[in-house]
This record gives sequence, C-alpha cells and structure tokens, in this order.
Amino acid sequence: MERTLAIIKPDAVERNLIGKISERIESKEFKIAAMKKVALSKNQAENFYHVHRERPFFNDLTTYMISGPVVLMVLEKENAIVGWRELMGATNPADATEGTIRKDFAINLEKNSAHGSDSPETAAFEISFFFSQTEIFS
Ligand code: ATP
Ligand code: MG
Repeated sequence: MERTLAIIKPDAVERNLIGKISERIESKEFKIAAMKKVALSKNQAENFYHVHRERPFFNDLTTYMISGPVVLMVLEKENAIVGWRELMGATNPADATEGTIRKDFAINLEKNSAHGSDSPETAAFEISFFFSQTEIFS
C-alpha cells in the first residue's frame, strides 16, 4: 500500500466540488485515510510549495492557495501516487485527458482544482507537513 497527499484546491472547494471529487476518488478504490478542511496561511503555502520558490508563478500560486479553504486528504492504494496523478490529469487542463478531474473541473493552469504528490519522497514530506500519524487511518 502506498500513500499520497491530495488537495482539493480553493477553486474547487468554492464551486462545491468536494463531493464530486471525493466520489471519483472512492470509486477508484482509494481509501481516504485522512481528510480535513483548512485555510492555509501564506507561510504554510510557501513552505508547502518550496520547490517552486524560484518560479515566476510562485507568488501567484501561493496567493491563490490561500484565497479560500482547501481540503487535505491522505489517499491510500497500491501505486497511489501515480494513480492519483492519473485521476487528476495533466497540470494544464487544456492538456488533460477526457474524464480526468482537471479536464472536467479545472478553470486554468493555475486554478486546476487538485494537487497530488509527485514521488514517494514528496508524498512523505507533504503528508507529514499536514498530518500527524494519529490522524491517519489505514
Ligand atoms: P500540483 O503540484 O499542484 O499537484 P503539478 O505537480 O501538476 O501540480 P507543478 O509543476 O508542481 O504541477 O505546479 C504546481 C502548481 O503551480 C500547479 O498545479 C499550478 O496550480 C501552478 N502552476 C504550474 N505551472 C504554472 C504556470 N506556468 N503558471 C501559473 N501557475 C502554474
Ligand atoms: Mg507538483
């Protein structure tokens, strides 16, 4: 079993898409091992996306991530990291495959509705960034 961190981003929470996105997750046999709705601070958003600190879109991205509450989830399944990224679709919804979350729900490259860890190392960092072990239920 593998774990990944998923985020339902502010654009999707604002448009009442928590249920629709969670339904897709559960219907693909992911276990939602942890889940909470939070408002990130700017500092948290910057530390979470620290790998993008030097990118030109860093300030816009972190400002967007604090524009409204997000839903944080730990997803569990075999090959959860790749599986969740497949379910989300490409970063830019214009490039995303039919039937993916970003194709169906994302507004644009920045407001792309969902986040997923991109490697086992990133998943470990991101899960522990938001959740303690006692908050995760296998
Ligand atoms: P995420 O890490 O959120 O799951 P990702 O791994 O598909 O997305 P990254 O390259 O890690 O994509 O970019 C992180 C986020 O930054 C993207 O999801 C998107 O919201 C935003 N972003 C990425 N590239 C751009 C860009 N060129 N302009 C504006 N925003 C961008
Ligand atoms: Mg990423």
